[in-house]
Amino acid sequence: MDTLTISCMDRRLNGILDKENDGSTIMLRNAGANASALRDSIKDIISGNIGKIKLMAHSDCGAMKVVHSALKEGVKTSDYVYQNLVKQFDGKPFGTRKELEELNEKLQMEELKAISNGIEVESNFVDLSKYHFEEPNALIAVFTYHSTDKYEDLCKRAGLDTEATYFIQASSIEEVYSDIEIAVTKLSIKHIVLMAKKPSEYRPVYADMQKLKMKEFMEGTTVQFIKL
Ligand SMILES: [Zn+2]
Repeated sequence: MDTLTISCMDRRLNGILDKENDGSTIMLRNAGANASALRDSIKDIISGNIGKIKLMAHSDCGAMKVVHSALKEGVKTSDYVYQNLVKQFDGKPFGTRKELEELNEKLQMEELKAISNGIEVESNFVDLSKYHFEEPNALIAVFTYHSTDKYEDLCKRAGLDTEATYFIQASSIEEVYSDIEIAVTKLSIKHIVLMAKKPSEYRPVYADMQKLKMKEFMEGTTVQFIKL
């Protein structure tokens, strides 16, 4: 049976997630390992042969910076980012970013338990302070459908730098528009790649690319379609 892992899109997690993946781990990723916003993808995937659901949130999370600055410093986010990410923390008790990260882990675990249909759910929080990362020059964000592929393989096949590439994965691009928006507006990522691996994916991903280009937040950003 497969494992479903929900994690953050952060580039620094790629190698850590690859180590966790024995080839039967389906990955879903967005800003903040935000399971609440991936509800449709999760329900879709766990209707298959899933033995375990794993949450892998992490320390020093950019998505939690967005939430913290929105709720503690009044920094504006779009309505879409508020609804999909920030709102679930509004009015909840937390002070520091570390407390917010702990609250996020707790809320996402509650969400997963509520929709897991009896499948075992566990949390494996990643402390990034234990690792060392280089600062890459230009960051890239990839959208691709959820899969068991390793990021090193995907990046090699697409000619991308694994250490510079954020991965956003869901069963539909609509579910992660707010995460792409965060990548563009909060992380200043100027290059978005939509990646399709199977012939059956090429057409829908290409159509998604056209829709994405029309989004207001995409102004000044390049979008590329890579067929693997
Ligand atoms: Zn993160």
